[in-house]
Amino acid sequence: MLSILSFVGKNFNSIIEKKKQNNQNTNLVPVIQVNSPVTSFVSQGFKVLTQNEKQYAYHFARAAWEGARICYFQRSYESPGLFYIFHKIFSKEKPLVVKQRLLQNGWSEEEVEQLFVYIAAVFQNSGNFKNFGDSKFIPEISYEKFEQFITTSQGYQVDQVWQSISKYIYNYDKPYGLIDLQEKNGSNSYYSNNLKGELLEAVDKFLIVQGISELNTRVVKVEDEIHVLVASVNKGEKDLGEVHNHKIKLIYGDYSPFLNSVVNHLTDALQYAANDNQKNMIQAYIDHFNSGDIEQHKQSQRHWIKDKGPKKKQNNQNTNLVPVIQVNSPVTSFVSQGFKVLTQNEKQYAYHFARAAWEGARICYFQRSYESPGLFYIFHKIFSKEKPLVVKQRLLQNGWSEEEVEQLFVYIAAVFQNSGNFKNFGDSKFIPEISYEKFEQFITTSQGYQVDQVWQSISKYIYNYDKPYGLIDLQEKNGSNSYYSNNLKGELLEAVDKFLIVQGISELNTRVVKVEDEIHVLVASVNKGEKDLGEVHNHKIKLIYGDYSPFLNSVVNHLTDALQYAANDNQKNMIQAYIDHFNSGDIEQHKQSQRHWIKDKGPVIETNIGFIETYLDPLKVRAEWEGFVAVVNKEESSLLNELVNKAEDIIKYLPWPKEFEVDIYKRPDFTSLEVLAFASSGTPLGINIPNYDDIRQNEGFKNVNLGNTIGKLSKESIKFLDEIDQEIFYKYQQEAIFLIVALHELIGHGAGKVFMKDKDGNLNFNIEKTINPLTNKKIDSFYNYGEQWHSKFGEFSGAMEECKADATALYLSTYDDVVKLLLPNQSEEERRNTVFAGWLFIVHRAVQGLEFYNPEQKKWGQAHVLARNVILQSLIKEDSEIIKIKETKQNGKPYILFKFDQSKLYTTGKKAISNLILHLQVYKSIGAGNEGIQFFSNLAVVNDQFLHYRNIIIQNKIPRRLEIQPNLVLEDGEVKLKEYESTFAGIIESQVEHHLENIETTKELFLNIQKLFQN
Ligand SMILES: [Zn+2]
Repeated sequence: MLSILSFVGKNFNSIIEKKKQNNQNTNLVPVIQVNSPVTSFVSQGFKVLTQNEKQYAYHFARAAWEGARICYFQRSYESPGLFYIFHKIFSKEKPLVVKQRLLQNGWSEEEVEQLFVYIAAVFQNSGNFKNFGDSKFIPEISYEKFEQFITTSQGYQVDQVWQSISKYIYNYDKPYGLIDLQEKNGSNSYYSNNLKGELLEAVDKFLIVQGISELNTRVVKVEDEIHVLVASVNKGEKDLGEVHNHKIKLIYGDYSPFLNSVVNHLTDALQYAANDNQKNMIQAYIDHFNSGDIEQHKQSQRHWIKDKGPKKKQNNQNTNLVPVIQVNSPVTSFVSQGFKVLTQNEKQYAYHFARAAWEGARICYFQRSYESPGLFYIFHKIFSKEKPLVVKQRLLQNGWSEEEVEQLFVYIAAVFQNSGNFKNFGDSKFIPEISYEKFEQFITTSQGYQVDQVWQSISKYIYNYDKPYGLIDLQEKNGSNSYYSNNLKGELLEAVDKFLIVQGISELNTRVVKVEDEIHVLVASVNKGEKDLGEVHNHKIKLIYGDYSPFLNSVVNHLTDALQYAANDNQKNMIQAYIDHFNSGDIEQHKQSQRHWIKDKGPVIETNIGFIETYLDPLKVRAEWEGFVAVVNKEESSLLNELVNKAEDIIKYLPWPKEFEVDIYKRPDFTSLEVLAFASSGTPLGINIPNYDDIRQNEGFKNVNLGNTIGKLSKESIKFLDEIDQEIFYKYQQEAIFLIVALHELIGHGAGKVFMKDKDGNLNFNIEKTINPLTNKKIDSFYNYGEQWHSKFGEFSGAMEECKADATALYLSTYDDVVKLLLPNQSEEERRNTVFAGWLFIVHRAVQGLEFYNPEQKKWGQAHVLARNVILQSLIKEDSEIIKIKETKQNGKPYILFKFDQSKLYTTGKKAISNLILHLQVYKSIGAGNEGIQFFSNLAVVNDQFLHYRNIIIQNKIPRRLEIQPNLVLEDGEVKLKEYESTFAGIIESQVEHHLENIETTKELFLNIQKLFQN
């Protein structure tokens, strides 16, 4: 290859732009003239490059040249054949040797030159058509001479290659003389010649709708199918649907070996990259060439653009490509009717507990991403000094438009609401819609914040959403997170976690970092300290107490204040246990608090606080901070109480054998509450805690329905449902959601037994008499002492549990006596419609949630959405007629309509759901992790049809709402409920006032501890 390169480079380099000087017969025969001047690309710059830069240039050039083989394949049918023959010949004989051979065969010097200029031109144009004008050129020497050059060579023996191409070399008649479509009297090698332009246009339109770029494809018709060949290393096939009665298939792997070489050379270049833009760019190139996905190439170009200038530029018009929070995001407020009837004592209790919850919520920022606490600090500093309106005035005076201010405010509001710059719902990053320059201007011209190390440390992360900066996950899975330092691999982490379990140490309130050769498990606690635990995989393991110490110290102070207003001994004991837990970091004490909490049934002020849910952690074992205060809504609560009273009868309807049901149903306390403060990265509709399996099983749990966090959807925002279904859902949505959430939380999570062995070796079931209804054989597995649901079902555990709870709710909603309990004032017809609306709610959430599926990683970003899609697929699998999906158009865009056949709800619909919950419960009961994961993941697959719907849904998506929470404030010794206006500015103001302490400490911890999680 190198000899050819030097041959091209030195002798016939810039043939194509040169004017023809010998005009004889050039009008007739398209040859390249032998008197074409040759210019060399001379580089003066090369010699002053550093070794590193030279290496980078070398590997990148190798990648470029190896990939250039593709040009031959794109230029004409015969071009790759010519390349092969010439390369074989000149690899063996240098041009001078060939020349000698030909002269000895009676060729003239001029004939040799005629041959060489032709070959040089073929190399330069990557084939026998001119790059400039797309017309064919042929050798000036005769066919016989040309063939002689080939047949007498040492490097190439005539084979099928020459036989296949020889007739094309000299033929420049129509259709062989010009690159064009066959029907335009040309030839080309982008489209097989049995494809007409009309059909090709239809195919291309179809590809656009599917979101597939044509850039790196070729199209061929094979029998009746149309194959779109995609340039990629990875091979594969994908059915896309039909166009004009032709089946369309994507066939990945065109040019695979060339691209493989390209990827190898780029990988070599990676280590010599000068900066992160180059690194990210090359990584995006590699991803693109491997997958064939043009989005990744676009990604690389974004880095390339950034790499050009010293300043980053990013003005984002296209919100489909760039993950921004849109300015038309609706804002809903949590309204509490219950607050005003509280006693002064209850209000004081609520106030101090809310202060504890919010001051602890600073931890959420540290858990969300490396840069999130930095963003918090800067925004808090700025808005503590200037109210949103003042900031707005300042920016307008600096030439900002109103819309730009809104774009800034929605970003800041979303950062506050999500406790960072990754969405709580889906775990993907969002960036400001305004330009980097504007964003920086907002900061530098502020009164409250002076640019310091905080902005310097985080600025490069704010706009970067490429791998690994775009998604929360382990580094090795192309994500980033701030539970684990990025020098820790998943395998080692699992070993560490197993080790901790054996040592009886909970992971819940920890983070893990590798510092030099030691592994430090950082434990959230006020008290500081260290403890050596031993070794794992030759790494010393240490517990380091005192993570988040200042925040937890504030939490403890406020809880201490709350203590004097506690309503009863359960609340007092509970708070004391919380205080002990936050001081020591010992999860046993948190468990203790939860035991008291369960016993505190039906309180006027409901609370909980600590490290609770594990959704955020990529390994799903470490919990996120959460603290809330809510007040009872007395009317809804009495209905839920009715349901609880009948729970034991209701459970008998469930489709599993009685051995699989809990021996004694622990009546959970289930009330409908109004949130006064929910201090975490997101607000659920209801919660069911504690998550400690042993406490749930033996002592019980409580359900909390957070009634005022639901909000009501406008009719326009209920998308993708057929008109009649949309009407019913709109009309009955609040009752339907109340029904489903109640059954989900009360029975869905509460029913069903888990078979386990206690620490004395006793089983909690009769192993001889319990038959698995799926196999009709005796039970052969259960949970050994210490084994947990999460450890057996891994990353699917959360989604499977949510799926079981949702599906159980749907199943029980088919029993009218159950529905009547919750909706006593409805007529029979209204109840039937409410139940239908409940099913529509689940299906609608499933469909809208398809956007949270990542087709590239084949991964779901959100447990509840995955759960609902599994329900949807179960329904379709049971009866393909139950939900009909119609493709249509709305506002000129592709659109889909789902029509749920209401008459099938009680027949095939119920059957599908019954079957689903039976499987989920049995796998859960017997701890059959592998079978359970297999069953569930089969239903979690998003097939091509649904990928197609996903594209349409994304095109039609309405932004997710932002929430505004009230604040409890103390004025002259009296607790007041402060509400804010429903705007982005209102969210910012409320959040600034939720966080009052440890602002400078946030900076300190960010600069000192959080850097361990830098990516
Ligand atoms: Zn749930």
